[in-house]
Amino acid sequence: MSTIAQETSPGAPQVDHAPSTTQSDKAAASDSTTTQESSEITKDALDEQAAQKNPFWKPRAPPMLGPDGQPLSRNATKKLLRQQQFLERRPQMRQQEKLKRKQKEKERREAIESGKIAPPPPKRQKLDQIQSGITIGIDMSFDDLMLEKEVKSMVDQIKRCYSYNRTCEKIVHIALTSFTGKSKEEFTKRANGYELWKNFTLHEDGLEKIWPSDEISGKERLAKLKQLQVKASIKSEALKAQVLAAASSSSSEPSSMEHQEATGSTPTDQATAAMTTEAPSSEGPSTEQETPQNDYKGLEMERHMKEEKLATIPAVKKIVYLSADSPNTITHLEPGTSYILGGIVDKNRFPRLCQDKAEKLGLETAQLPIGDYIQMSSRRILTVNQVFEILLQFIECNDWKEAFLKVIPQRKLEEKQRIRRGTEAWKAKYGDQGKGRPSASTSGSTSVANSVADEDESSHEDSGDEDDVEEEEGGSDGVEQAQDV
Ligand code: SAH
Repeated sequence: MSTIAQETSPGAPQVDHAPSTTQSDKAAASDSTTTQESSEITKDALDEQAAQKNPFWKPRAPPMLGPDGQPLSRNATKKLLRQQQFLERRPQMRQQEKLKRKQKEKERREAIESGKIAPPPPKRQKLDQIQSGITIGIDMSFDDLMLEKEVKSMVDQIKRCYSYNRTCEKIVHIALTSFTGKSKEEFTKRANGYELWKNFTLHEDGLEKIWPSDEISGKERLAKLKQLQVKASIKSEALKAQVLAAASSSSSEPSSMEHQEATGSTPTDQATAAMTTEAPSSEGPSTEQETPQNDYKGLEMERHMKEEKLATIPAVKKIVYLSADSPNTITHLEPGTSYILGGIVDKNRFPRLCQDKAEKLGLETAQLPIGDYIQMSSRRILTVNQVFEILLQFIECNDWKEAFLKVIPQRKLEEKQRIRRGTEAWKAKYGDQGKGRPSASTSGSTSVANSVADEDESSHEDSGDEDDVEEEEGGSDGVEQAQDV
């Protein structure tokens, strides 16, 4: 209808008839005016009719215009209207959702108070951890002596060490040395984001290369580097960041270690060399564009993270290689010392391997004082994570016996020790009522000890410790393969 109205609208171009207009032309013109009027009347009349038939009927709104001033299609108009309606309704909807949430939360609280549902577990409190100043190095130079599954087991043991360190109040710094090859590959597969782990650094170099140059702590090293940086008055900010990134990663990141290894320079040499390098000039081909370090913001963030990490590295003034084959026994742990553990799972295929390596390097060696405190049913070779946990336990409680009993699996303890541990566990559970229970020295005690032992075994199984034990039976020659790890 509107089309008709438009076609016949008064604005439509009028034909300018010549004066010699004929009668019939006039009649035609008057006809056209009549048609126009009648069509408008018809439209109004029809509108009225429609309104009478349907009280909800509304005349169609004129078409909406798009951003280009053109009328929108029916679909586009509908879409636009829907959007407008949604925007109008949104604040109200939000308010309703908020009220719903509040109501739900109120109901949940009431249900907890009335005991209908269990309260949520308490949030884990963040520990105030103290850096003990002790480093535990793990010598990863034995990849080629391990089977594939043993490498995997080694990586899992290290992951366990890292997790254990995170739960302790007094923590150590963990440093992996000779970190290349199979273990590195396995780490990449099995431990996400390990490069960023705190209190944990990775070195491609062997331990003999790292520690003589790391006598000062990361904090001191950082301060020195910053001083050098100021002296060198580097013009380019990007280079400045690059320098710190390279220098700070010298003790933590494989990438810079690769560089260090390639150039044979120490971290400080590296930093100094980088700092004295001229900033790239604006003329000539820029090397900056060829590296991802061009991304200054990313670089800054990386630098910040590396600096933070560097600042937590304790100084290492002394190295002691721990080995069950050492003629010496360790009595206490000293800050400023790196205690090295052999990163190998060998099911006793290579006795004295680490002791011989340490002797060759002229390093001090020591074994744990296990024999002074407890009796073991097999040789005193433990796994890396067990030794690690014993060391951390000792740092915490300063009591070797307690540390051994807490970590060494039941089946590695002699019967007498197992019974004592069983009794202690019983007392811890039932207090002095334990007196009235079967005594540890009676035959009934075995079942008590065993039940506690069983409990313990299962917890070890949970943590995987039990499987990791390097077991040897029948002396050094009668090597029995330990259970698969
Ligand atoms: N055949 C290997 C055994 C590896 S056990 C060797 O030659 O050492 C893994 C590591 O744990 C050892 O290298 C050692 O550093 C440490 N370790 C195991 N038992 C130990 C003990 N009783 N005392 C000190 N360190 C021990």
